[in-house]
Amino acid sequence: MSKNIRVRFAPSPTGPLHIGGVRTALYNYLFAKKHGGTFILRIEDTDQKRYVANAEKYIIKALNWSGIPYDEGIGKEAGYGPYRQSERKMIYQKYAQQLVDTGWGYYAFDTAAALDIQRKNSEANKETFIYNWHNREEMNNSLTLSKEEVDRRIATGDPYVIRFKTPKDELLVLQDLIRGEVKINTNILDDKVLYKSDGMPTYHLANIVDDHLMEISHVIRGEEWLPSMALHILLYRAFDWKAPEFAHLPLLMKPVGKGKLSKRDGDKLGFPVFPLEYTDEKTGDVSRGYREDGYFPEAFINMLAFLGWNPGTEQELFKLEELVDAFSLERVSKSGAKFDLDKTKWYQHQYMQMADDEKLAKDFQTLFKDELKEVGLHQQAHSYVIQVVSSIKERATFVADLWDLGHYFFKAPDTFDPKATKKAWKEGTDILMQNVIEILEGINDFTSKNIEENIKAWIQKNELGFGKVLMSFRLSLVGSMQGIHVFDIAAMIGKEETITRLRTAINQLS
Ligand code: GLU
Repeated sequence: MSKNIRVRFAPSPTGPLHIGGVRTALYNYLFAKKHGGTFILRIEDTDQKRYVANAEKYIIKALNWSGIPYDEGIGKEAGYGPYRQSERKMIYQKYAQQLVDTGWGYYAFDTAAALDIQRKNSEANKETFIYNWHNREEMNNSLTLSKEEVDRRIATGDPYVIRFKTPKDELLVLQDLIRGEVKINTNILDDKVLYKSDGMPTYHLANIVDDHLMEISHVIRGEEWLPSMALHILLYRAFDWKAPEFAHLPLLMKPVGKGKLSKRDGDKLGFPVFPLEYTDEKTGDVSRGYREDGYFPEAFINMLAFLGWNPGTEQELFKLEELVDAFSLERVSKSGAKFDLDKTKWYQHQYMQMADDEKLAKDFQTLFKDELKEVGLHQQAHSYVIQVVSSIKERATFVADLWDLGHYFFKAPDTFDPKATKKAWKEGTDILMQNVIEILEGINDFTSKNIEENIKAWIQKNELGFGKVLMSFRLSLVGSMQGIHVFDIAAMIGKEETITRLRTAINQLS
């Protein structure tokens, strides 16, 4: 790709960013990075009714947390700003006017009430009302009113809109990089409102003008915008501008059944549909986020990348840089991608295994600081925590799992699981455990291997049965049948602590 690649993510700040939006941003990011291009964030806030004040901040935070920050946009000006459409109002008026002047647009004065009557009439005839070539000559607009009348109305402040004059009876053959050819007859298109007399452009006008002025080379966006593509291409033609290339991404679908993945699906099935936790300013409702649920951004991004794209190989784990290398729009699928919670957790589990133990230990110490304080673990014990997390993470998906999996490394059991006790503590077990204590006392180099060799030799010599002894040993150290290799536990908690726990078990269970 030779020309300058500039792509944009253009969300409307109407609430928290859905993970489908993050995926759109991700594909834009990957495409930009792959081709040495620029990834731009533009905020499309022309719809004041749906504007939510904290949404823009949320979007930026979400991109940053996901590891896909924008190169250009709010706070990162590069000569194409401003990047909020509400701050570009002045720009759109000129272009709306240009369309009227060239005959591609016209003023329409039809009141909401008049349009409503038309709509009701159509409904009564079981038709959908559509404002276009077939009725525009009967409506209240600059195509039917005299020039003097139009000028008079505008001068006296009559509310108006500027509509696009969609050409009649033309077969448009649109090219989409994912879908290939898309054919549309212009007769089914309506004369969309592009501009309102309150000085606000609609999405369509602002979007095209900005993509042009910001020199966007590729528009990569969700499938829900595919129906707008015909109008957008017509607008480029009307302005005599070269259109960018288009790629419409498949929808993110519900895990079960049909339809688009919604917040309700997440609530019902227990997973977030937002990257970060979000508090609704009005209702105070809190929606959960991947970050707060304990997902690593790398796992989240890897999972999202595969919802609609695949590399064409067996490889499933991709770091961001690898995604950049492997990504191509050709391998984005046309059909919707079903969200899969198990797969999402699988990614997280994989990234947990690959995570740096030192970082995991830090996260663990932060998350469980109260628990660790209670057991009196000092900051100096960081290296111990690293060892612990490294030995138990195999079973963990989230950092939050690590306490349940490894609490016995930090504190002696305060109770003994009754079922395990029944199985592992019989008559005479106290004597066996007393013997174990004596063996342990004799070991100077208290490594897992040494402990294992000594205890096993003694078991063999006395024909005691491994299971019997080792179960009681484990019960004494852990309080249940849980945990990693029992000799590793002993070695890690140390000789003194191992012997103390054995003594406690003997006292409490016999
Ligand atoms: N503002 C639109 C949205 O919220 C942008 C669509 C586009 O990328 O053209 O998704």
